[in-house]
Amino acid sequence: MFAPYSAPELQRTGAASDVPLQRALREQQTLLDSAGVGIVFLRQRSVVRCNQRYAEIFGHAAAQDLVGVSTETFYPSRDAFRELGRMAYPVLAQGQTFRMERQLRRRDGSLFWGSLTGRLINPQDTTEGSIWILDDIDEQKRAHAELGAAVREKQLLFDSAMVGIVFLKDRNLTRCNRYFEQMLGYSAGELAGSSSRRWYGSEAAWKDAGRRCYPVLNAGQTYAGELELCHKDGTPVVCDVRAKSIDPADPSLGSIWIAVDITERKRAQALLASAHEDLERQVQDRTRELRETVDNLHREINERKADQERIYWLAHYDALTGLPNRALLAERAQHAIRVAQENQTPLALIFLDLDHFKHVNDSLGHRVGDALLVEIAKRLRAVVRERDTVSRLGGDEFILLLPGANAHGAARVAGKLQEASRQHYQIGHHELTMAPSMGIALFPQDGTDFDTLTQSADVAMYRAKLDGRNTFKFFTPEMQAQSVRALQLENALRRALERGQLHLHYQPQMSLTTGAVRSVEALVRWQHPQLGNVSPAEFIPIAENSGQILQIGEWVLRTALAQLKDWHAKGFSGLTMAVNLSAIQFRQPQLPELVSRMLAEFGLPAQSLELELTEGVAVDDPHTAVSTMDQLHARGVRMSMDDFGTGYSSLSQLKRFQIFKLKIDQSFVRDLSDDGNDRAIVSAIIRMAQALGMRTTAEGVETPGQLAFLREQGCDEAQGYHFSRPLSAQELEAFMRTLPPH
Ligand code: C2E
Ligand code: MG
Ligand code: MG
Repeated sequence: MFAPYSAPELQRTGAASDVPLQRALREQQTLLDSAGVGIVFLRQRSVVRCNQRYAEIFGHAAAQDLVGVSTETFYPSRDAFRELGRMAYPVLAQGQTFRMERQLRRRDGSLFWGSLTGRLINPQDTTEGSIWILDDIDEQKRAHAELGAAVREKQLLFDSAMVGIVFLKDRNLTRCNRYFEQMLGYSAGELAGSSSRRWYGSEAAWKDAGRRCYPVLNAGQTYAGELELCHKDGTPVVCDVRAKSIDPADPSLGSIWIAVDITERKRAQALLASAHEDLERQVQDRTRELRETVDNLHREINERKADQERIYWLAHYDALTGLPNRALLAERAQHAIRVAQENQTPLALIFLDLDHFKHVNDSLGHRVGDALLVEIAKRLRAVVRERDTVSRLGGDEFILLLPGANAHGAARVAGKLQEASRQHYQIGHHELTMAPSMGIALFPQDGTDFDTLTQSADVAMYRAKLDGRNTFKFFTPEMQAQSVRALQLENALRRALERGQLHLHYQPQMSLTTGAVRSVEALVRWQHPQLGNVSPAEFIPIAENSGQILQIGEWVLRTALAQLKDWHAKGFSGLTMAVNLSAIQFRQPQLPELVSRMLAEFGLPAQSLELELTEGVAVDDPHTAVSTMDQLHARGVRMSMDDFGTGYSSLSQLKRFQIFKLKIDQSFVRDLSDDGNDRAIVSAIIRMAQALGMRTTAEGVETPGQLAFLREQGCDEAQGYHFSRPLSAQELEAFMRTLPPH
C-alpha cells in the first residue's frame, strides 16, 4: 500500500537488466512498509521519501502527501526546529547516530512525543541526506509520566504513611519508612540492614513471631495479627501487623510488613476493660447492696408487720391466757349489741370473779396462780360456744359475752361454769379447786351499751359474792343501789379505824350447866357520823373484798384481848374471849404467829382465846386449813365453828379439824319451838359434836322454850338476846356482876 519508490522510479533505477538491485529495492520497500516505526529520508530538510507509518504519525493519509514537505512543519515552533538542528548535526556530522525524544507537531497542530533516531547516509557528504526513524512515544511518555507520578505518590505514601512499613528479606530489613523507625524510637536510617531480631524484646519472642508468621507468608497468604515489638528504650510496643510475601510465588524475594502501633489503643482498651470491669463490679456491688437493702427492707417490713401483729395482739389479748382482753371484748360487744338491736335478739354478759383466788397467789406463789388462771381460762372457753367471747379483764376477773343468750341461756351457761369448776385443777403437785362468783346482765333491760352491761354484771357478781360465793346472780335495779352503798361503805371504812369509828361490843355465852358467863364474843361495831350504825353483817364482807379486813381483824383481836386482860385483872379470871375470824384472816400464813405474839403481849394464856371460824375457811383449800388449825391448836388456841349447819362441811372434814366447839347457827335455833325439822337438825348436831368430843353453843337464843329444848338435848352453852344483847365493855361488866358467883 505504501511505496516510497514509485514504479517508474523503480523501473528507472531498476532496469530490467539489473534484476538483483530491483529485488533489493523491493525487499527494502517491504521492510519499510512493515516497519512499526516511521521512517523518513530527508534531504535539505525536506522529505524525500517516507513510509506509511511516518505519514500516519503526523496525521497524513498517504506517505506521498509528505514528499517535499519541509521538516520544519513537524516541529511545534521554528525555534524548536532550529534547536534540534543545532543539537543533531554535530553528532550526525561525526557519522554517529543522533537520538532524541522531542515534542513534534501533527498535521492538526496537536503535539506529541516522538523518539527520533537519525543518521547521515554519507557522513562525508551531508547533502546526500539523512535517514530518520520516528516512533510515536506519546503513549509511552504518558505512561512513563504516570508511572513516575505513581512512584512518587507511592513514595509519598511510604514516607508519610501513619503506619510502619518494612521490607524484609531473610528477616533482615531492606527498607522501611520513617514512621516505622519513629515508632520504635530509631533515627532515620538507623535500622537499615538490621535483623528484625532488633525490634523484638527477646530471642524467644522473635522466634515465636517467625513461627507464627512465616508459614502463612510462605503459603502465599496474608498474615494478620498482633505482635509485641520492642522500642529502642526497651518498652513494649504492641502492633497490629499485616504481612505478605512480595511475590507469593517466590518467598525468597522477601516480604512487606505493615505495622500499626496499637499500644495506646490496647492500653485504652485495657483501661476501658478495667473501667468496664470496675463499672460491672460497681453495678454488681450496687445491685447486691440494693438487693440487701431490699431484703433488709423486706425483713424490716416483716418484722414491723410481726411487731404490729404483736402490738395488735398485746393490745387486744391477755398475754397470760391468750383470751381477748377488755379492749377486744369492748369491740366485739359493741358489734354484738348492734346485731342484737337490729335483729331483736337477746344478749347476755356474765361477769365472773374467782372466789379466794388471791389466797392461791399469796400462799402458793404467783407462778402457781398464773398456771391456774391459764387452766381456768381453758375450762371457761370449753364451756361456751364458738361465737361466745371469753375475755380476761386482769386478775381473777373474766367476762363472758353470749350473743343470742336470754336469761335462761345465761343461767345454763353459769350453771355449766359452776359444774366445770367443781373438778379440781392439777397445778404441779397442787390439787386446787376454784369456785367462781358470777353476775349476769341482760341486753337490753340491764344496759344498752357495753359499759353499762359490764357495770350491771359486776354489781350482780358482787352480790353473788356477798351472798356466799360460788353462785351466780342476775342483775336487779335494787342491786345498783346496794352497790352504790357498798362503794360508799368501802370508802368510809378506809378512814374508820384511824378516826376511831370502830369499837367492840361483847355478848356473853352462858354455860347451860352452871348458868355462868363462860366466855364473851367480841362483835365489832361501826358508828359512822353520817351513815350511822353499820352492821358488821354488811361491812365485814365489804372489808373482806377490799382487803381491809386484815387490819380491822388485827385491831379487833388486840382490842378484845386488851379487854379480856382488863377483866382478868378485875377478877373475871376464868373468862375466855371469842373473836370472829374472817376466812381471809385465817388464810394468812402468819396468823398462828400473830395470835401467839398477841397473847404474849398481853400475858394471856392461849386457852383464854377462842377463834370463831366459818366453814368457808376450808372450802378452797382444806389441806392448808387443817394445817393452820393444827398449828393454832398446838399453840393451845381454841377454835369454834361459827354458824354451823349453813355451810358445806362434811362430817369427815369436821373430824380432821381441831375444833373445840360448834356454834349452832341461829337460823336453826329460831324455829325450834315449831319446826320439827330444825329440832331434829339441832339435836343431831349436838349428838354429833358430843361423839366428836366437841362442845356446842347455840346462837340466837331468844326464848325460854328454845333454851329448854337445847338444855334437854345436852347443849353446853347458849348465846342470845334471851340472856343479853351484845353490850359495851362496861355494860357487860355490870351484867356479869349481876350474876351469882360460881
Ligand atoms: P356471828 O359471829 O354469828 O355473831 C352473832 C350475831 O348474832 C351478832 O350479830 C349478834 O348481835 C347476833 N345475835 C346474837 N344474839 C342474837 C339473838 O338472840 N337474836 C338475833 N336475831 N341475833 C342475835 P352482829 O353483831 O350483827 O354480827 C353479825 C356477824 O358479823 C357475826 O355473826 C359475825 O359473823 C360478824 N362479825 C361481827 N363482828 C366481827 C368481827 O369482829 N370480825 C369478823 N370477822 N366478823 C365479825
Ligand atoms: Mg360469831
Ligand atoms: Mg354466828
